Amino acid sequence: MPPANRHNPTRASSSGSEYSLTEFERDFPDDAACLEHLWRTRYSPDGEHAECPKCERERVFKRYATAQGRQSWTCTGCGHHVHPTAGTIFAKSSTSLQLWFYAMYLMASTRCGISAKQLERELGVSYRTAWRMFNKIRNELMKDDAEPLSGDVEVDETGVHGKPRGPRMTKKEAAQWRERQVSVLGMVERGGRVKLRVIKSRRGEPLSGAVRANVNPESIIFTDDWMSYKPLGKEYAGHKVINHSAGSYVLGDIHTNTIEGFFGNLKTGMRGAYKKVSHKWLQSYLDEYAWRYNQRRSGQAMFHALLERAAIEPSTAAVVDRGVRSTQ
Ligand SMILES: [Zn+2]
Repeated sequence: MPPANRHNPTRASSSGSEYSLTEFERDFPDDAACLEHLWRTRYSPDGEHAECPKCERERVFKRYATAQGRQSWTCTGCGHHVHPTAGTIFAKSSTSLQLWFYAMYLMASTRCGISAKQLERELGVSYRTAWRMFNKIRNELMKDDAEPLSGDVEVDETGVHGKPRGPRMTKKEAAQWRERQVSVLGMVERGGRVKLRVIKSRRGEPLSGAVRANVNPESIIFTDDWMSYKPLGKEYAGHKVINHSAGSYVLGDIHTNTIEGFFGNLKTGMRGAYKKVSHKWLQSYLDEYAWRYNQRRSGQAMFHALLERAAIEPSTAAVVDRGVRSTQ
């Protein structure tokens, strides 16, 4: 076995889902390398030939710097310019491309994520800039896909804003207090993906509508005996109910332990990384959290998943996203 080359570090395949800072710095040492990456991923796998939309055929492209300092590639047949950042979250940003890539690296390389404040410190940019980058990365690259869940799906809801304060409440007061909390509906495929939705109420249409919008009707759903799940029974291939109110938690395969365990981790994560998440940002926080969970199965480093998504035109993804939200 040859000695390890410290200028070209390699990792054991078991840690394939991680991507070290050294690897990042090797792959993306400057803006030019980042731009080259987008050019090759989006338009030209060999870095030289690409389909020219004007010539409507494959042409050789050459790279030139424009007057604005933006790099583009030019068709040698007709002079048409292709800007690799057009239509991506990096378009029209005055922040350097490598700083964007590094922000994505930072947001992808910690287990629980980092805040815009941490990003400000790490990148050495203004808070305003850090906040903007943070939201672009989170809202456009970590957002939920439109694909509904299927198979065996556990569904449960939880309140996310702490415990009631003040004197001990009666049962009725406690129930009223719970009603006023924002609820989060969690849906998880056993051994698969999770989706989280902020719902206005844990009763009636807000709850059942969110299940319908996110879980394929051919699924078997597993819920507790909360009354608002009842009407869904006839709409799904199966509905298995664990009778929590009678003290039952597991009966063979009938349980909601997967989603309950997920909620437990979610609440711990929220206390740690974000302290308090306001209602306004709760859904995007939940999307990021779910994205991290769903990403764990891909075996791909989270940074590469972000990078792959960044190369897709966000406008296309945004249409898909609106479709999902409007059905809630
Ligand atoms: Zn051309």
